[in-house]
Amino acid sequence: PAAWSGKHITVAGLGVSGVSAARALAGLGARVTVVDGGDGEALRERAAALGAEGVTVRLGDATTLPEGTELVVTSPGWRPDSPLFAAAAEAGVDVVGDVEIAWRLRGENAAPWLAVTGTNGKTTTVQMLASILTAAGLHTAAVGNIGTPIIDVVLSQDAPGAEPYDVLAVELSSYQLHWAPSVRAHSGAVLNLAPDHLDWHGSMPAYAADKGRVFEGNQVACVYNVADPRTEHLVREADVEEGCRAIGFTLGAPAVSELGVVDGLLVDRAFVPDRQKNAQELAEVADIKPAAPHNIANALAAAALARAFGVQPAAVREGLRAFRPDAHRIAHVADIDGVAYVDDSKATNTHAAEASLAAYESIVWIAGGLAKGATFDDLVTRSAKRLRGVVLMGADRALIGEALARHAPDVPVVDLDRTDTGAMAEAVREAARLAGPGDTVLMAPACASMDMFVNYNKRGEAFAEAVHALAAGRDKDA
Ligand code: ADP
Repeated sequence: PAAWSGKHITVAGLGVSGVSAARALAGLGARVTVVDGGDGEALRERAAALGAEGVTVRLGDATTLPEGTELVVTSPGWRPDSPLFAAAAEAGVDVVGDVEIAWRLRGENAAPWLAVTGTNGKTTTVQMLASILTAAGLHTAAVGNIGTPIIDVVLSQDAPGAEPYDVLAVELSSYQLHWAPSVRAHSGAVLNLAPDHLDWHGSMPAYAADKGRVFEGNQVACVYNVADPRTEHLVREADVEEGCRAIGFTLGAPAVSELGVVDGLLVDRAFVPDRQKNAQELAEVADIKPAAPHNIANALAAAALARAFGVQPAAVREGLRAFRPDAHRIAHVADIDGVAYVDDSKATNTHAAEASLAAYESIVWIAGGLAKGATFDDLVTRSAKRLRGVVLMGADRALIGEALARHAPDVPVVDLDRTDTGAMAEAVREAARLAGPGDTVLMAPACASMDMFVNYNKRGEAFAEAVHALAAGRDKDA
């Protein structure tokens, strides 16, 4: 902490993460300036509150580097080519993210990190992992994009009277990894790698390289997805501690040094004595909710990290059974007239949407939003046979419509031609018209939500509301 006293630190962005970083660093005696290009009323209120705590806030200018800056702290959403970071580079000043700060702030009670990254499944896997670690009697927390900012969690360990964590389950986005050069996890996992956020990273190799940082300096295990050779490639590229092992997970039978599935059981052939011959049963596939293939993969990755940390098989099973998925992740909302309505608003890219489309047989798909530079041909080609109908909405719906016209010309498509929030109610009504008994109406938009909603949570809530309204209407008719 002495290292922070009097240090001139500039924090980019007055959002949740920026405010948390600014508070924490000011609390350690740093001289903090937060800069934000915006200048609205909400920002001014936040600025006033921070000002009272001794933090300087500069609104309306996000590009010039404040005089005397010795370190810049980024916020999620700030692109690496932002002018502020260019100015920092020019001045020879380091740019780091909140995860890097958290890592550098770990005090005497520092808990080892089990880190998870990947294009999809991070939050789910980290929560499964935390559930397993808790079942093993360990004091832990799931930290990452949601919940308490990581800096606050790390600092809380050293507060007087606090019970120190035994281990942290840490979700790391590709952005966070990009800005966290010194993090060294006990063990790390890359769940999968599909094109996403390429507008931010610039290219697929750059995106993959950022994800691969999760393995850098690992002590015990680097966990990869056997079905996704790019993830294994990242293990081979990484510079790890001596004795650190590559551990694969697979939906098939596991080879040596893998976790996999045999006869409906999750099986470990990595962390067992004499693994050439032995395998250890960990849990049943039926213990996992929902037991869709991508989620079994998440469970295997979580189990691999827990086993790398020395957790016993019984706790793996207990933790997986206790796990409940977060809202808006393949959440069953209602059954109406024999049709299931499922909210997967968190499917904000094509890779995620493909996973949830693969979990159902006959689907009316509600899709569309902000495509973030994605193309939809592969998704539509691989999912076409499951589609009974499609309802499109949102800014980039035409991209999906064109892919459907090319690869699934017989599937009926309703194009709402709307980008307002109220479109969801119409989408649900149209989907209900297209669906028949046994079908699933699946809202897995394959796109980000910000063209129509504040975030994917709001989009999911709008869907659930529309489904409940539909159900209420049916009750009246009956
Ligand atoms: P993240 O934190 O990486 O965004 P989440 O656990 O929140 O991941 O899941 C996001 C969405 O991705 C889910 O709604 C689901 O549709 C999909 N998904 C989850 N796990 C996987 C996986 N292993 N592979 C592909 N898609 C997945």
